[in-house]
Amino acid sequence: MRQDQSKHYLVVGAGIVGSAIAYELQKRGSQVTLTDANEPGQGASYGNLASIAVTEFMPVSRPSIWRQTPGWMLRPDGPIQVSLGYAPRLIPWFARFFWAGRPSKRRQLEAQGAILCRRALADTERLMAELGLSADLSRTGCLSLYASEAEFAGDRERLDMLDRHGFGYEVLDGNALHDLEPEIAPVIQKAVLLPDNRTVRDPHTVVTRLTEAFVGQGGQIYRGKVTSFERADRITSMTLATGSSIKADMVVLAAGAHTGQLSKQLGESIPLETERGYHTQINAPGIHLEHSIIWPARAFMISPTAGGIRIGGTVEMAGLDAPPDWRRSKITVKWARMALPNLQLKETSEWMGHRPAFPDTVPVMSASAKVPGVFYATGHGHLGLTYAATTAKLMGQLIAGEKPDIDLYPYRVDRF
Ligand SMILES: Cc1cc2nc3c(=O)[nH]c(=O)nc-3n(C[C@H](O)[C@H](O)[C@H](O)COP(=O)(O)OP(=O)(O)OC[C@H]3O[C@@H](n4cnc5c(N)ncnc54)[C@H](O)[C@@H]3O)c2cc1C
Repeated sequence: MRQDQSKHYLVVGAGIVGSAIAYELQKRGSQVTLTDANEPGQGASYGNLASIAVTEFMPVSRPSIWRQTPGWMLRPDGPIQVSLGYAPRLIPWFARFFWAGRPSKRRQLEAQGAILCRRALADTERLMAELGLSADLSRTGCLSLYASEAEFAGDRERLDMLDRHGFGYEVLDGNALHDLEPEIAPVIQKAVLLPDNRTVRDPHTVVTRLTEAFVGQGGQIYRGKVTSFERADRITSMTLATGSSIKADMVVLAAGAHTGQLSKQLGESIPLETERGYHTQINAPGIHLEHSIIWPARAFMISPTAGGIRIGGTVEMAGLDAPPDWRRSKITVKWARMALPNLQLKETSEWMGHRPAFPDTVPVMSASAKVPGVFYATGHGHLGLTYAATTAKLMGQLIAGEKPDIDLYPYRVDRF
């Protein structure tokens, strides 16, 4: 289906989400400009853990997390940290977070994640093929590790959720695990193989290829920070920090964790926070991994990526402006060395990124409820890479006025 070619579409934010949408709109025959304050793919999409994590859709707000969070926050090596100075600004977000975890809501949110995850791998495979990147998507899955039966029991709620939604997995004993991944330490006694959780070689390459394909089809990339919008009865243009302005018939706001600042300019407040996360990239790890690894009790991930192994995760609630606290990335390396005793720390680099996160864990893929011609695609949290191809397809349908493949009502911007 081709869109109205006389219209000019502007996509704000060249992360994985905005780039995938710009590519989709351009493919449909529109005139599209993709704008970013930086080079494409330098935000959260640069350094994520590269996982198409189709089994990780459990809403974060739930009793087991509520119970553990105070203890985690008191431990400097806990997986969640909240900056004391920033905490007062988080009160409304956390109020919504707890409300989203009420029993009657949890199953709905879980189903909303499952619907996206069920399509995510096929959509990603299709997109990677279009970009000539099929070989960059692993065929092997992810191993979820347990050092004891108690740890395995602690993860039961996730496996029950996978059963409820028909996602396959295989429970492995220690021998089967060590046959599959000999580098994993004997202390790990059990694992679950998640065969559909795949890994891309390098998330940044996916954004780069998307923007190249977008430009190859006639799309334009404009470097500039969007600061405000002009509107009459609908959006008409946006202004950049340089003072120049770009006319637009339709604007898609996909500026990751910064989207809330832009929506405020339009009088449309959204409860978007950043869950900051860290990685350590090890380019000479001295070991080889076939699978990505998660250790749920320690809440971190290890992925085989181009050039080595990437370790990361953790959640730090400290807003957009605080400097990185590199102790956070060192914590996950400490845990990783427990799981992979032969891991060497050579040629390493550290990185911090801002996950865009709504309190109910579900992204927004929606028309604005206030300004005609404006659309939102943000809040993909821990699953922005996983959901990007699906988001682009759905947003393409929504913006073209077609019936989207799934009902987008649960992902509307004014649901909070
Ligand atoms: C440590 C870590 C590990 C992760 N691991 C995974 C994983 O394994 N799998 C997975 O699916 N997801 C993972 N994620 C989450 C994923 O990275 C994010 O959900 C995703 O990158 C969000 O993409 P985005 O395009 O919305 O935002 P971003 O990539 O942040 O892009 C937003 C863009 O908007 C631009 N921008 C902002 N404001 C403006 C403005 N005013 N004007 C113009 N441009 C602007 C920015 O410069 C940026 O380029 C992880 C995240 C982190 C931090």
